[in-house]
Amino acid sequence: MKPARTSALRLGLVSCSACHLLSRKPQALDHGITYCPRCGEELHQRKPNSIARTWALVIAAMVFYIPANVLPMTITSAVGTVSADTIMSGVIYFMQHGSWEIALVIFTASVFVPFLKFIILIYLLLAVQFKLVKQPKDLTRLYRFTEAIGRWSMLDIYVVTILVALVKLGFLADIEAGPAALYFALVVVTTMVAAESFDPRLIWDVVGEKHE
Ligand SMILES: [Zn+2]
Repeated sequence: MKPARTSALRLGLVSCSACHLLSRKPQALDHGITYCPRCGEELHQRKPNSIARTWALVIAAMVFYIPANVLPMTITSAVGTVSADTIMSGVIYFMQHGSWEIALVIFTASVFVPFLKFIILIYLLLAVQFKLVKQPKDLTRLYRFTEAIGRWSMLDIYVVTILVALVKLGFLADIEAGPAALYFALVVVTTMVAAESFDPRLIWDVVGEKHE
């Protein structure tokens, strides 16, 4: 027999977002602000405006993603010549010079992973908003996955550093970070905050509503 689907919300409990203390929902929570009895943090049954906030951040990150890919990421100056490279032209450069491993790392970290995160977050948002949750466990796993890869997003910054080192050692050229680097950092940070502002409990709320 499947266990009955319940939640702290239905049992009249509320979890503190700061210290995770599960306490009985105070009567006053429906009418105004109440605070955690242990740490004093404001209590919310769900992250406030989670869906709208996550949408806004995902859209902002997608906007930053455009200059991050179109503008030059690195500006290299070798003897007499200056060349600006976007992420993709960098990837192509490494592929043409036989370093497909480096090309793959840059492509995965800078183009593919941020794109994958947009797709997952949009999918979760649509599923919750239109109440199309069939496999809540799978969706929760998907959310945990985006949260986990968020920690690795800073890898991109290391990729640029490694690039700098490679070029310096290999060709005795000078290399600087281009304007895309700033947009890139914005993509990484905005997506991380977007994932953080999504409340995965909303997935289970949809399932609960349907069974009532
Ligand atoms: Zn607390």
